[in-house]
Amino acid sequence: MPATLHVVATPIGHLGDLSPRALETLRGVDAICAEDTRHTRQLLAHFGVERPLVALHQHNEEAQVAQLVERLRAGQSLALVSDAGTPLVSDPGYRLVRAVRAAGIPVSPVPGACAAIAALSVAGLASDRFAFEGFLPAKAGARRERLARLAAEPRTLIFYESAHRIEASLADMAAAFGDDRHAVLARELTKLFETVLDGALGELCQRVAEDPNQRKGEFVLIVDGAGEDADARIVEGRRLYAKLADHLPPSTAAKLAAELSGAPRKALYGG
Ligand code: SAM
Repeated sequence: MPATLHVVATPIGHLGDLSPRALETLRGVDAICAEDTRHTRQLLAHFGVERPLVALHQHNEEAQVAQLVERLRAGQSLALVSDAGTPLVSDPGYRLVRAVRAAGIPVSPVPGACAAIAALSVAGLASDRFAFEGFLPAKAGARRERLARLAAEPRTLIFYESAHRIEASLADMAAAFGDDRHAVLARELTKLFETVLDGALGELCQRVAEDPNQRKGEFVLIVDGAGEDADARIVEGRRLYAKLADHLPPSTAAKLAAELSGAPRKALYGG
């Protein structure tokens, strides 16, 4: 193989999703850059691949880049993988890819699983235009602000979420986008407990609250975009409500947001 950085997708659950070309590439490179070397070693052991591993994660990527570019310059070929799915999609790697491209060395994809695209492919929501939002901020205030800014976005929205924040994020989405906005919650895709729930955000909040199993595992949340005719007053009212509700009781926040935006209070909050 000529000196190339191969960006290789790995499975998001089912090991059968590692493509034959991914396997061939991993077998053929001089070294594999991996987000978590222990995790990747297990994957490689399953397929009987024995190649040297180099740790490349968000804390050392900047420092490792020069050395990896040097190896490529010296004629070695490298692969980049993450713990699951496609590298660089809510995963490390863009600094390395940028530096390798800047050095004039080829970067070549070996495509495969990606949780966002897998979820979109089964959601049944408009998929001609979509916006990938990755993970929402962990802090409630910042999360609500981000959601408020997305309330009028007409494209289908895709979010990643973890088990310990799924309930809070769903509740905040229902507050920011309205209980009635249609959404799909895709959990544990390609794994034993794969489930895809489909319904209005208010309904999904309830189903996840009632069933602890629905709060376990890994999630992709896909939310219908705001209708092109979304009422600007309601969108503004929900943005204000999401901000005010951080500091005021919900009923007061809704009253003020309704007054300031001219939207009906009921459209802003369920109480
Ligand atoms: N690079 C990966 C990709 O291509 O999808 C994503 C990495 S990101 C750090 C991990 C997040 O992806 C999880 O928190 C979850 O939101 C989502 N995810 C990964 N695997 C999943 C699965 N099997 N089912 C549902 N969501 C998954």
